Amino acid sequence: MNFEKYKQVLQEIKPFHAQLIAVSKTKPAEDILEVYHAGQRLFGENKVQEMVSKHEALPKNIQWHLIGHLQTNKVKLIAPFVTLIHSVDSLKLLQEINKQAEKNNRIIDCLLQIFIANEETKFGLSDEELITLLSSPEFSQLKNIHICGLMGMATNTDDENKIANEFSQLKNLFEEAKQKYFNTEPSFKELSMGMSSDYKIALHHGATFIRVGSMIFGER
Ligand SMILES: *Cc1c(COP(=O)(O)O)cnc(C)c1O
Repeated sequence: MNFEKYKQVLQEIKPFHAQLIAVSKTKPAEDILEVYHAGQRLFGENKVQEMVSKHEALPKNIQWHLIGHLQTNKVKLIAPFVTLIHSVDSLKLLQEINKQAEKNNRIIDCLLQIFIANEETKFGLSDEELITLLSSPEFSQLKNIHICGLMGMATNTDDENKIANEFSQLKNLFEEAKQKYFNTEPSFKELSMGMSSDYKIALHHGATFIRVGSMIFGER
């Protein structure tokens, strides 16, 4: 790990009251333990199987955040222990998370992933799809999930204005959804955005979680 960079990110997020998720995908348990021993407890993974193995092998007070695309048939594998699912992008997936959460006597915290980049490879709901989901009667019946906010990934570009625009759009959508649908729920407060290359921009646009991998762990 890069201890200097890790400490630097922690210093940078302090005034913003944001939280750092150390994205440990593809990195071995030894690397994760190094960061763990530096005090880090929130780790992010993008693959279910990998997160399950690491959860089994590593200290139980690690909080595991799923940040990658989630298939409905894999929800049951992470339902017993996942801290926050950042990548919920359909009602069907939310219904399955709700079902598996119920089986585990849990309420599972989720973020809804919003498509903000103009790249075909990124998953997520459009603004309209978000509103449709939140207004649907099926959604209001789900008692074992908890929507804590939104997540998004900006376009992979050097154009900082473009990235700033995308984050600011997401922040606006977050405020709109909060006002319309979560007015009485203070726990709708999280905005997960920003990675190694763009977390500083994300912080200035209201990120409460930044997801940083390569800057801390080195290139993958
Ligand atoms: C890999 C990944 C990150 C971290 O990316 P880095 O560039 O390594 O910081 C953040 N978010 C998601 C969804 C990812 O898949």
